[in-house]
Amino acid sequence: MSEGQEEAIEAARKLFAGPVSFLLSAPSLKFLPDAIAPEIAFAGRSNVGKSSLLNALVGRNALARTSNTPGRTQELNFFDVGTPPVLRLVDMPGYGFAKAPKDVVKQWRFLVNDYLRGRQALKRALVLIDARHGIKEVDTDILDMLDAAAVSYRLVLTKADKIKPTELAEVASRTADAARKRPAAHPEILSTSSDTGQGIAELRAAVLSAIG
Ligand code: GDP
Repeated sequence: MSEGQEEAIEAARKLFAGPVSFLLSAPSLKFLPDAIAPEIAFAGRSNVGKSSLLNALVGRNALARTSNTPGRTQELNFFDVGTPPVLRLVDMPGYGFAKAPKDVVKQWRFLVNDYLRGRQALKRALVLIDARHGIKEVDTDILDMLDAAAVSYRLVLTKADKIKPTELAEVASRTADAARKRPAAHPEILSTSSDTGQGIAELRAAVLSAIG
């Protein structure tokens, strides 16, 4: 690791070791907070490990709720990192419920699309992909929306501990190939595990570097 990378990782570790607090839940755009800090959004299919990853990122056990009731989580949840906030984490509602009613899917699309298209403060999105499965059909909606809205994003593999390192390398390389074909995607893939802590320091550094 270069000295610059080590410094970036240490700066990010310090930031996330400081105060992190829940700010608000926005069920629609009129409830968004004033954009006083840069925002980094987290998206992913339900059960991908998003809550676990957010909790690992901030080193707390119960910041993001691990509730997965279809239709209940159609909100953007904002968390302040630092006091006053240096940045905000935005937990976007999970997608891809097998039994989600059509109007819930529609509501998800409106909320997410409005936010992605209209938010200057949004600096980057992180799209979580289960390392066991790679990018699936269910993920293409959000990737297309991010590309169309020209929001820069990065793909993050979750649950890396669940597969062998050789399989992980293969999925990461396949995912990187897919990312290279998408205009707003960062070409490098992060592999993480909330259980073992793999990739969490790098993820923190990636979040901090995204705000410039
Ligand atoms: P969310 O619906 O995307 O917020 O997903 P959760 O964070 O609630 O995680 C879904 C399930 O996957 C839970 O049973 C977690 O314990 C499990 N999980 C999440 N992250 C990891 C991980 O890194 N490794 C393993 N082995 N399991 C994980």
